[in-house]
Amino acid sequence: MSTQIRTVTVLGAGVLGSQIAYQSAFKGFAVTVYDIDDDALAVARRRFDTLVATYTAEVPGGEEGAATALERLALTTDLSQAAAEADLIIEAIPEVLDLKRQTYGKLAALAPAKTIFATNSSTLLPSDLKDSTGRPDRFLALHFANRIWASNIAEVMGTAETDPKVFREVVAFAEAIGMVPIEIHKEKAGYVLNTLLVPFLRAALELVAGGYAEPGDVDNTWRIGTGAPVGPFQIYDVIGLRTPYNIMVHGDEEAQQLATWLKTNYIDKGKLGLESGQGFYKYM
Ligand code: NAD
Repeated sequence: MSTQIRTVTVLGAGVLGSQIAYQSAFKGFAVTVYDIDDDALAVARRRFDTLVATYTAEVPGGEEGAATALERLALTTDLSQAAAEADLIIEAIPEVLDLKRQTYGKLAALAPAKTIFATNSSTLLPSDLKDSTGRPDRFLALHFANRIWASNIAEVMGTAETDPKVFREVVAFAEAIGMVPIEIHKEKAGYVLNTLLVPFLRAALELVAGGYAEPGDVDNTWRIGTGAPVGPFQIYDVIGLRTPYNIMVHGDEEAQQLATWLKTNYIDKGKLGLESGQGFYKYM
C-alpha cells in the first residue's frame, strides 16, 4: 500500500517522539520536529545521535542510512512553521490531557485543512481529544511501542468520527515507515498490546509477591510452556519497573499492594530494570 503522505511533523521530541521522527526520516520522509524550547531541542539532538549509533549497529540498512536520516530532520520551536506544510502531524507530547487539548486547539488554527492529526497517547482515548482538534474526521490515534525499530507495531485507532479514508491513509503511512499496522476497529483503552500485557504482567507479579514462585521459575514456565522467547519478568526489566509501578499505584486495592511491594523490594533499592543494570535480573 503506498501513502499520499509526504511531509511529517512530530510534536514533542522525547523518548517516543524522537524515535517516531527518526524512524520516519530513516525510511525517507522529510520530518519536522517541534519541541518547546532550545533546551528541549538540544536534548532531542542528543537522542538523534544515539539513534544513529543504535540503527547503525542494530537495524538492517543502518550502516548506510542511519547518518543520512539526520539530514531529513528539521528541528524547530516555531509551532506555526511546524504545522504549515505537514500532511501528517504526530503528537507525542506529555500524557497530560489539558496540555494535549491546548496543543490541538493551537494546531487547529495553524495547520492547513488537509493535515491529518494523530496522537501517540498511551492512556487517553482519541475521543478525549477529538473536539479540540477542530477536525475530528481527520484525527485518530497512531500508537507506537518503545524501541520502535525493533518492536515495530503501530496501533491505529480512530473514533466513530474518523474518516475511513484517513484511517487507511495512516495505516499505509505506518507500513511505509516499516511498522506492522494493527487496525483497531473501535476505541479500546490500552489498545491491543496493553490490553494483553498489563493483566499478564500483573498476574506474574502476584505469583512472586505472594511468595508462590521465583521470577526465574515464572519466566521458565512461560518460555518452556508456551514457546515464547521471553517471560514476564524479562519484559518488566526491559520496560523499567517505574512504569508498571505508576500504572498499578492508580489501580484497585490489590494493584496498589503490588505497587507497594514493587517499590519496597526493587525501586527503592535502585533496581529499576535494564536501565539501572539490575531489576528482576542482573545485567552487569
Ligand atoms: P517524554 O516526556 O519523553 O517527551 C515529551 C516531550 O514533549 C519532551 O521533549 C517535552 O519537552 C515535549 N513537550 C512538552 N510540552 C510540549 C508541548 N506543549 N508541545 C510540544 N512538545 C512538548 O514523553 P514520551 O515518553 O515520549 O511520551 C510522549 C507520548 O507518547 C505520551 O502521550 C505517551 O503516552 C506516549 N507513549 C510513550 C511510550 C513510552 O514508552 N515512553 C510508548 C508509547 C506511547
